[in-house]
Amino acid sequence: MYKHGKVDTMYRAVKVRIYPTDEQESYLAQCFGNTRWLWNYMLNATTTAYKETGKGLSKVAMDKLLPGLKKEYEWLGLAYSQVLQRVTFNLSGAFVNFFEGRAKYPNFKSKHGKQSIQYPQNVKLMPQDSVIKFPGSLGLMKTVFHKELPDAKFTTVTISRKGDGRYYASILFNQEDTPIVAIRDAIGVDLGLKNFAITSVGSKYDLPKKQLALLEKNKKRKQRKLAKKTDKTSNKRRKAKRLVARISSKIARVREDFLHKLSRKIAYENQVICVEDLAVKNMVKNPNLAKAISDQGWGMFLTMLKYKAERFGHTYFEIGRFFPSSQLCSETLLLIPMLQNGYDSLSVRFVDCPHCQKQHDRDINAAINIRNEGLRLWALGTSASALGGDVRPKSSGRKKSMKTEAIPHELGSPHHTR
Ligand SMILES: [Zn+2]
Repeated sequence: MYKHGKVDTMYRAVKVRIYPTDEQESYLAQCFGNTRWLWNYMLNATTTAYKETGKGLSKVAMDKLLPGLKKEYEWLGLAYSQVLQRVTFNLSGAFVNFFEGRAKYPNFKSKHGKQSIQYPQNVKLMPQDSVIKFPGSLGLMKTVFHKELPDAKFTTVTISRKGDGRYYASILFNQEDTPIVAIRDAIGVDLGLKNFAITSVGSKYDLPKKQLALLEKNKKRKQRKLAKKTDKTSNKRRKAKRLVARISSKIARVREDFLHKLSRKIAYENQVICVEDLAVKNMVKNPNLAKAISDQGWGMFLTMLKYKAERFGHTYFEIGRFFPSSQLCSETLLLIPMLQNGYDSLSVRFVDCPHCQKQHDRDINAAINIRNEGLRLWALGTSASALGGDVRPKSSGRKKSMKTEAIPHELGSPHHTR
């Protein structure tokens, strides 16, 4: 018999409201009926076997009955096959629990009251688009995600219809395989042209450049095709136009997905997050920088960082006045002569510091400066006793698990600084 996984603390269920279309609603009604019928059929079969032999039917034995049943009752196959297999999994589990004295004998399911089906895999959560993608005929389902989803793998998704006719999806996250992340006191984040973001702990993050370049190339090709279709009323032109729109939104989604994941990671792992105000950053006379602010999604990124930090009860702090973060030695706070020209010499990545004799990675050095200056200003504003780098903001002691590989493009942590 199958071992039935016990649901305990390493799982976390997140329940969201879903809004099926009329068509999806009738499909779900069919599936509820099919799984209920299958449960009752198998329960009956296994009860008979139990009476005759003293043993129930194993999941394997039940699954062997499925193909024959699908032939006999064609409508049974309308439900996604894994949803049906989930029924035999759950029923065999219920029998194991019964035989081992943990539960009562399984009951027949009634068509009254709450109905549910389970998708064990192949479900895709797309919170940015407010949809869940289910496999098979169900497809995209409008969903309201109220809160941040745990950054963990999820297993089963259960769709249920309550007595009042509302639909919900319950997503079971497995938090067992996620490493514990210690919450850092504070971090400085510098947004850059070479790398998207650089942190004071030495991590550099980049947009998925290769993927985006391929998509952009594809988009150009589709735009060229569209340009050739000059008849404004033709169906072919309309279709070409739709293809361009579709790839544009794909590109936007890929970028946004990166921004969401990175901002969530940084907001989650740090109690105080220090950044530079973009309007102030923009005052640096550098056309590349102004362009980057609008192109790269820096503004969107900071907005996300702010609300996510707040959601985790962490502090987001913007340095709202000019501060030469990229020109100071982060150890001594003295101006590094070579860097006084600021952004003009972007090709210089490392600098031998005349003050502390160390070699600074320019970007990480800037991020450390942002962190220290942010902490200093933030501390002045909130607690006079906490000054400098030793600020210890309210210690919440929360240490929740979090997957670090959520960000696909961490570029390593050079050890040139500190
Ligand atoms: Zn230095």
